[in-house]
Amino acid sequence: MNDLTVIAGPTEAFSDAPFEARHLVNGAWCDSASGEVSERLSPAHGLVVSRAARGTRAETDAAISAARAAFDADDWSRRSGKERATLLLKVADLIDRDRARIARMEVLESGKPIAQAEAEIEGAADLWRYAASLARTMHGESHNTLGPDMLGVVLKEPIGVVSIITPWNFPFLIVSQKLPFALAAGCTCVIKPSELTPSTTVILGGLLLEAGVPAGVVNIVLGYGDPVGIALSTDPRVDMVTFTGSTAVGKHISEAAAATLKKVSLELGGKNPQVIFSDADLEQAIDAIAFGVYFNAGECCNSSSRILVQQDIADEVIERITAMSRSVSFGDPLNPATKVGAIISPEHQAKIDGYVRAARAAGAAVPIGGEILRVPGLAGQFYQPTVVGPVSPDMPIATEEVFGPVLAVLTFRDMDDALEIVNGSAYGLSAGVWSENVHTCLEFARRAKAGTIWTNTWMDGFPEMPFGGMRESGQGRELGRYGLEEFLETKTLTMRIGKTRGAWVR
Ligand code: NAP
Ligand code: MG
Repeated sequence: MNDLTVIAGPTEAFSDAPFEARHLVNGAWCDSASGEVSERLSPAHGLVVSRAARGTRAETDAAISAARAAFDADDWSRRSGKERATLLLKVADLIDRDRARIARMEVLESGKPIAQAEAEIEGAADLWRYAASLARTMHGESHNTLGPDMLGVVLKEPIGVVSIITPWNFPFLIVSQKLPFALAAGCTCVIKPSELTPSTTVILGGLLLEAGVPAGVVNIVLGYGDPVGIALSTDPRVDMVTFTGSTAVGKHISEAAAATLKKVSLELGGKNPQVIFSDADLEQAIDAIAFGVYFNAGECCNSSSRILVQQDIADEVIERITAMSRSVSFGDPLNPATKVGAIISPEHQAKIDGYVRAARAAGAAVPIGGEILRVPGLAGQFYQPTVVGPVSPDMPIATEEVFGPVLAVLTFRDMDDALEIVNGSAYGLSAGVWSENVHTCLEFARRAKAGTIWTNTWMDGFPEMPFGGMRESGQGRELGRYGLEEFLETKTLTMRIGKTRGAWVR
């Protein structure tokens, strides 16, 4: 461990009182009728950092009733784009005002590094501003080509009540990829954050109230997938479910929602490859490989947890990424110098370790890492930056979502071989290509089956650019104007001009 860059803790002796998180139902904060609460230990520090009401069917039912009544009252959904945009812009300003407080809470519950959390909260505010711009510019279409006496208009209307179910890896950012877009469209919502990271969603609820969101338009129910998430995906009063999380739960939700034919939008897992051709700029590529796999400790749907390296440069790439892994600072997430923080839970840490052990047992080399580490001064769970490979394309570590700071290295001969491995995955979230030859990049971009392709870069995202997966990585898109479209229904309005309608009977 001596040759690693470990940031020991504690960076500060913190004594924050545990955050008290309650449900937001119809504009008011409330506890569970059962009185039950869940305590959250900071993954890095092992201290209680929040206490959250643990929702039951009763609170979920009340929240859905409130969202349904608010939608059916035709107030929020009929407000002008200007009014909805004004509220979203206010929320963005409040997020900016409270950035430090939100980021700190995010660190304490998720274990991610503070510098990264602050950048995420800043990015989230930008999403609220971008959604505000969509609220004012969205429109349907007109058809002036249907003949002299006909005019066609396509109207866009909010879909209705939306359930928003989010995971623990980017709690504030992911709710901000969904909620402002749903609100811009005129929908009302019930949100269920992960039970591991409820507090920043609750803080957001407070900012929405402060900004003047009408009662019932945004409701929050805390608690577990069973029963809260299940009720949100089955209740007939809900029109749509938007979910981010594992592919397994995404499939459950899709199945559960089918009984009432709710629209379902899913952002699921990935096994996202970066493909490095021999002519790549390796200086740039190696840094992007480290960023791709170690960002957010690899607990990231967009994690590039496998790379494909052209055979003749494989040894050099493994050597260089192994060397760079030693300089990736990991440890106390409250230290601004930390790049890799803690692992979300001991169970998840064991799952990550299981993949590396299995690969080792199957004969794969592990040039660095593969160990559960204790960071001096901290009681929480960490996993060492780890490189495994070369591995064969059929090993679980090469095909499944590990969701940890673990890189699987595969090799390929040529473009066809690389694409066969890339497209052989059940997932299709994102993929990247590294080459100095534009033809190589464009051919890969067109033939790779993934919702996002990066050429000579990794994981850049913009509110303007749609994000989502093909195949088992999901359905539907977030961000961009497509992200708004998800929350809209289409209504066809066909109008006759003048008394020209021919008789059908006589
Ligand atoms: P998850 O199990 O997919 O849960 C995501 C959200 O769905 C949570 O709020 C969860 O509630 C809720 N949920 C669980 N079961 C449900 C059901 N039957 N109906 C409706 N909602 C339900 O993800 P996780 O527990 O956070 O992590 C498990 C694994 O998923 C990770 O190890 C990782 O591999 C993967 N994951 C992927 C992503 C991604 O972005 N692709 C994000 C996070 C996790 P609970 O509070 O009960 O969990
Ligand atoms: Mg879960």
